Amino acid sequence: MVIADEGFPGTVLLIRSAGWDVTHLDDHALVTVQAGHEWDQFVLGMVELGYSGVECLSGIPGAAGGTPIQNVGAYGQEVSETITRVTVYDRDEGEVRTLTSEECLFAYRHSRFKRSDRWVVLDVTFRLRADPLSAPISFPELARRLEVPPGERVPLAAAREAVLELRRRKGMVLDPGDPDTRSAGSFFTNPLVSGGYPSNAPAWPMPNGVVKLSAAWLIENAGFHKGYRRGPAAISSKHTLALTNPDHGTTKDLLGLAAEIRDGVLDRFGVTLHPEVVLVNCTL
Ligand SMILES: Cc1cc2nc3c(=O)[nH]c(=O)nc-3n(C[C@H](O)[C@H](O)[C@H](O)COP(=O)(O)OP(=O)(O)OC[C@H]3O[C@@H](n4cnc5c(N)ncnc54)[C@H](O)[C@@H]3O)c2cc1C
Repeated sequence: MVIADEGFPGTVLLIRSAGWDVTHLDDHALVTVQAGHEWDQFVLGMVELGYSGVECLSGIPGAAGGTPIQNVGAYGQEVSETITRVTVYDRDEGEVRTLTSEECLFAYRHSRFKRSDRWVVLDVTFRLRADPLSAPISFPELARRLEVPPGERVPLAAAREAVLELRRRKGMVLDPGDPDTRSAGSFFTNPLVSGGYPSNAPAWPMPNGVVKLSAAWLIENAGFHKGYRRGPAAISSKHTLALTNPDHGTTKDLLGLAAEIRDGVLDRFGVTLHPEVVLVNCTL
């Protein structure tokens, strides 16, 4: 989230519900976690209990109830793969409802909840395999770090540790002593395009004939290197997609840097980058 310097004319809810319930079935478990529970503590708990399916989502800051909003994902896993239902308060109808995974309309870094004021997520239910091994490791960088071929499964704790180590190297685990972690995570999503992109750009085919491009590659090749500064705002020195605020700048400063990057990529490659962050009372 990036919030306007002048704030937001409305009420903010800070959800503090915590804890989870496990229903253990034959080879899997249904685990319902309260929306306010710290996400990474939940992931650690599942790894320790031997439930497989969220281990690659270790180290992502925030609460469990935030994860369905943008279908949180990293290192080859997304919460949409394991979420079976989400309990919400529907502000339009004034009632508590249970939405199935299909009804959540999950997509890449998106769902029906993102940028909507209608829903308050109350709890989230995951279907996790009762298995001491991880889901198949699909992300090449993670497989290399674990020294296994892609598709191999590894002990849950090994997957978690490897993910945390890779994330720390990129400044993607919150650390008060590391100004590179003072960010909102990835500022832009990887763009989905149906044509008209540079032939040497890394591209992954997706359903419906579109390809996913690497936003980091486009940004770097448009001339914005790690550590690039514009006033008090800077690209992280460890991760091209994280826009940081090392010098107590304003939202205006941060959005100035984001706009310069977006326009630079558009000029150079004709590809429009879209923010992954939710902008509150401000625009890019
Ligand atoms: C260093 C860093 C690394 C990150 N890495 C990743 C990553 O690897 N993958 C990834 O997907 N994201 C990543 N993120 C982004 C962020 O951690 C996730 O989006 C996370 O889910 C945000 O949770 P939160 O509780 O902080 O939500 P907030 O940031 O407080 O809110 C985000 C949005 O969700 C809404 N929201 C939150 N909770 C609820 C609720 N209970 N009901 C209704 N709406 C709600 C808010 O209104 C807001 O619009 C990263 C962020 C940082 C700072």
